[in-house]
Amino acid sequence: MPAKAFKLRCRFCNQPVDWPPQQPRCPRPTCRGPLQPKRNIVFDAHLIEPTVPDMWRYRHLLPPLPDNPISLGEGWTPLLPLVPWSNQFIYVKNETLNPTGSFKDRGAALLINTVQGEETLVIDDSSGNAGAALAAYAARSGHPAHIFVPASAPEAKKAQIRRYGATLVPVEGDRDQVAQAADAFAQNPGVFYASHVWHPGYALAMQTIAWEIWEQLGRRAPEWVVLPAGNGSLLRGVRWGFRSLQKARYIRELPRLIAVQAEHCAPLAAFLAGTYQPGRFQARPTLADGVAVPNPPLIEAMAAAVRKTRGRVIAIPEAEILQAQSQLARQGFFVEPTAALPYAALPYLQRYLSPDDTVVLILTGHGFKSP
Ligand SMILES: [Zn+2]
Repeated sequence: MPAKAFKLRCRFCNQPVDWPPQQPRCPRPTCRGPLQPKRNIVFDAHLIEPTVPDMWRYRHLLPPLPDNPISLGEGWTPLLPLVPWSNQFIYVKNETLNPTGSFKDRGAALLINTVQGEETLVIDDSSGNAGAALAAYAARSGHPAHIFVPASAPEAKKAQIRRYGATLVPVEGDRDQVAQAADAFAQNPGVFYASHVWHPGYALAMQTIAWEIWEQLGRRAPEWVVLPAGNGSLLRGVRWGFRSLQKARYIRELPRLIAVQAEHCAPLAAFLAGTYQPGRFQARPTLADGVAVPNPPLIEAMAAAVRKTRGRVIAIPEAEILQAQSQLARQGFFVEPTAALPYAALPYLQRYLSPDDTVVLILTGHGFKSP
């Protein structure tokens, strides 16, 4: 089992860190950089458990976790052709069908299985899907949970979190200030900071999306994967997943990753254009609240994921987000505005596609979250 030797390192200072880390960032106080696998996982198809109909079919390919992982049946979501009668190979990976209605369940499920101590308080800062996911898995595992949210967060988003029994901690100020409040609170003993931004387990769980796409396409990779990008765990994790397949020679080429942002808040597009200034990036409000992240802490790693796959960033005007949401719904897929971004990116992508290319759009969050 290759996962046994699994180790992490700091992306900035190379500090080695054992799995599972009990804090989400580099433990050196002067560094606090992001953690990542020391070596990419090398995929081995013999380790798949084909009778397990959720992401735990890949349990032996993920970093070491308990024998009977806590789960709500996340993952193994449908991959469907977008237009069944068309000869264009465009598929949707319907992550809205996860237990709390978004792809974040994969990350929250993995993280909850690394928490040590029954009484440990798990926390995250999020106003939306990550908060709801952690609240649900904390409820499932019996851990108390605090979710730090902007005081101005929409009521509908907070209601789901509260319903799972988590304590909401409203913080005045912007998204960065909420993160700072959670980070400060995490210094208390008995607290596990299940940060969906920083904890490497979150992006590691997202590898399972890549592995599922590969299995569901009949053991091949698509030419393109199109996904919304906010803090980057999906983008980075999907790249790691396909890279692990490439390292083991199950695929020859990596899919080109298309990171989609809202035009009103497109820091990654600015970064790749060389116009991004950390901490000073100005964003406007957007309907795509899941990617309303003006200063993603791991923006450099996100850019690397795009570059290393010869991908692109596409920024979508507000009017086209709503239009895409409606058009997807008219085809039976009810998604929240953020999750409509990949569909909205299709017209911009069209000129780069070859006729036989396979494209996978990741539908990240359910429309019930933002009706
Ligand atoms: Zn470090």
